[in-house]
Amino acid sequence: MKDAAPQTIYLSDYTPFGFVVEDVHLTFRLAPTATRVISRIRFKPNPETAGRTFFLHGEDMTLVWAKIDGAPIEPEVTPEGVRYDVPDAPFVWEAEVEISPATNTALEGLYMSSGMYCTQCEAEGFRKITYYPDRPDVMSIFTVRIEGDEPVKLSNGNPTAKGDGWAEWHDPWPKPAYLFALVAGDLVAHPDRFTTMSGKDVELNIWVRPGDEHKCAFAMESLKKSMTWDEEVYGREYDLDIFNIVAVDDFNMGAMENKGLNIFNSSAVLASPETSTDANFERIEAIIAHEYFHNWTGNRITCRDWFQLCLKEGLTVYRDSQFTSDMRSAPVKRISDVIDLRARQFPEDQGPLSHPVRPESFQEINNFYTATVYEKGAEVIGMLKRLVGDEAYYKALDLYFTRHDGDAATIEDWLKVFEDATGRDLAQFKRWYSQSGTPRLQVSEAWDDSDGQYTLTFRQQTPPTPGQDEKAPQVIPIAVGLLNPNGDEVMPTTVLEMTESEQSFSFEGLASRPTPSILRGFSAPVILEREVSREERAFLLAHDTDDFNRWEAGRDLARDCLVAMIRDGAAPDDLWLDGLEQVVRDDTLDPAFRALMLSGPTQSELAQTLFERGTTPDPDAIWAATERLRDHMATRWKLWLPDLMEEMQVYAPYVPDADQAGKRALGSALLALKTRLDKGVSAQRQFDSADNMTLQLSALSQLIRSGTGAPAVQQFHEQWKDDRLVMDKWFGLQVMASDPRDTVEVTHALTQHPAFDWTNPNRFRAVMGALAGHHAGFHRRDGAGYDLLADWLIKLDDKNPQTTARMCSAFQTWTRYDSERKALMRKALQRIKAKPDLSRDTDEMVTRILG
Ligand code: ZN
Repeated sequence: MKDAAPQTIYLSDYTPFGFVVEDVHLTFRLAPTATRVISRIRFKPNPETAGRTFFLHGEDMTLVWAKIDGAPIEPEVTPEGVRYDVPDAPFVWEAEVEISPATNTALEGLYMSSGMYCTQCEAEGFRKITYYPDRPDVMSIFTVRIEGDEPVKLSNGNPTAKGDGWAEWHDPWPKPAYLFALVAGDLVAHPDRFTTMSGKDVELNIWVRPGDEHKCAFAMESLKKSMTWDEEVYGREYDLDIFNIVAVDDFNMGAMENKGLNIFNSSAVLASPETSTDANFERIEAIIAHEYFHNWTGNRITCRDWFQLCLKEGLTVYRDSQFTSDMRSAPVKRISDVIDLRARQFPEDQGPLSHPVRPESFQEINNFYTATVYEKGAEVIGMLKRLVGDEAYYKALDLYFTRHDGDAATIEDWLKVFEDATGRDLAQFKRWYSQSGTPRLQVSEAWDDSDGQYTLTFRQQTPPTPGQDEKAPQVIPIAVGLLNPNGDEVMPTTVLEMTESEQSFSFEGLASRPTPSILRGFSAPVILEREVSREERAFLLAHDTDDFNRWEAGRDLARDCLVAMIRDGAAPDDLWLDGLEQVVRDDTLDPAFRALMLSGPTQSELAQTLFERGTTPDPDAIWAATERLRDHMATRWKLWLPDLMEEMQVYAPYVPDADQAGKRALGSALLALKTRLDKGVSAQRQFDSADNMTLQLSALSQLIRSGTGAPAVQQFHEQWKDDRLVMDKWFGLQVMASDPRDTVEVTHALTQHPAFDWTNPNRFRAVMGALAGHHAGFHRRDGAGYDLLADWLIKLDDKNPQTTARMCSAFQTWTRYDSERKALMRKALQRIKAKPDLSRDTDEMVTRILG
């Protein structure tokens, strides 16, 4: 049931719960529409607070009976929970409730997916399972009994006993309710074992539906690598006898770190060369690592309240990116992360949804699992590490783990361990957690020939964001290197620590005026504003010793070239294309890096750049310019394309490692150019001979783009119609590769396909996410893209508010566009807002976006 007026929760209102939960016993009698949950919970007054209001959260359930200390009671029941006057002394709460997992389409709480019972409790889903103080600072020890005919019955912790039709689990580690999990169904295990650094033997299982067993090996290898890495790099060991992972088809997000029982979207576990792309393999490896790393950063040390979400998410994203850098290529990972940050976090931070890494208020916490909390949260940790140095970073982390093990902690606790470990004052640094918006960093330079002194002057300024008109200066680590005119490094990477609004740094004793390489490795999540000549950028593209900035120089040239083409109809910039050609053909460089060089800014990134430079983006002009540029590149490079494509062929058996994946990535970027010349002949050849999904899908993409894809689309469908994850690709690609004039019609036609199961989040996102991501197609001048997305969001809201609300962010940039498009987007948003019984999730998002 929906509240009349949405309630706002404030960080400043935090108070501890009046009671401590000593332990919890739960019994589940499983039945699809009438599951009974019997709870026995021991409470005692919390000595840390005087408040004694006894309110237990509980939603969408029927109370069968309740008792206190064995005596039946009749508590006051509201749509949000139960209230009762309890003794100011220890007591036992018991209750039985009935819930209906089979009709739970929100995929939060206990629900069913492909005939199997599963749970999702973060952030506030446990309150849909039984009455409980559903807040992360209430931690307790859970014992769970599951009764049902399902052959496999799992919960957190270690298995303690089982018999015919029942199983019992005990988790010795105190945990908040959001980490509770239960799974029951007809599942098969892919088993393995791991010996921890102290010699403890751990049973590992990946549980999947029968038929998917052959798609588990890669995830299992990733898990073992993650366990070893966390021991070696952070000294963190696993702490139970068993670690289970379950793959579920219907899931709102990627995966969930429930203690000892991680639950995954099947797209984040299942992989085989025939059905998964290189990108899928890399994503699976990263998500397995991410959830495993949460065992320490999230579970052993959890969050006091949901405002502290970045405490576990920012840190865990940072840790999984370190892991991927170590397993694969560090520069390629850094560049990919920055591309992702600019694509997802920058628009958020510069629009109506802008919020601090640690938000100060919310209506629906599910709406704050954002790129800002996760990815900017991880950037903040990277900056901290850059400022204090590696050694001090690991010293602070050791202190964090010893001091806060078992705690529900805060950002204050986190920063305090760094202050105590390093003696630094982090009061100003803390603004990264409270101040929203992307800082802009302006640079000017001065050269004194007489004494060889070179000076860089920086000015920082953050535009106002919703609720924050005034911005104070932040601590910005600026990694700088200096190159001499030959391209030799005369000053290696040095981290300048900027703390003022305007600040100068001088470098002495230089023989000639240097070329600066600024913000190396993207040392802070800011927008660098610097007037640089094309010649200087081309020089950095050719010579920068920092891989990230070398890529960035190429990207800047590409952006400038495209902006000139879009704004003034300029011709493509040959200076840049010559520099790019050098890099792309340089066989001493990693093919993955060369592929990133060639990939160029996306259309939405160009829209973002135009907006940052004060121009209203025109999606049709952006599309036309990128097409013109790609045609120009293909023609210009037609003589050497075939040879380089041949060099990128992999003849060894498929493995999803960084080396092979890099070659395929460059190969497919070249195929995209080649297809512009041969109208799909090479793509068809690749499609026909492909023995792995990476090559098959990149070929299919080019065939569709060339307008000759119809037979291949059919053939692909025939081959893969029984594989849900591959069919998600089939759905998504047809939209992604469509001509912008047809995107809406293609999307609409796919929604009429019998396999368009729109209640499945993966399928819905495959189609509607692709529509929202097709810049020129979505922003079609007549608003048909906006209307189609709005229609489907309105439809999905009744079933799945979480996924609906997330996808509303497709409209977050609406104010940047021309007045016609703006009006059309506003109308679509208002139409969503006017839907009767709109969920709290979607209502909050649409209201914030409208501003
Ligand atoms: Zn996480």
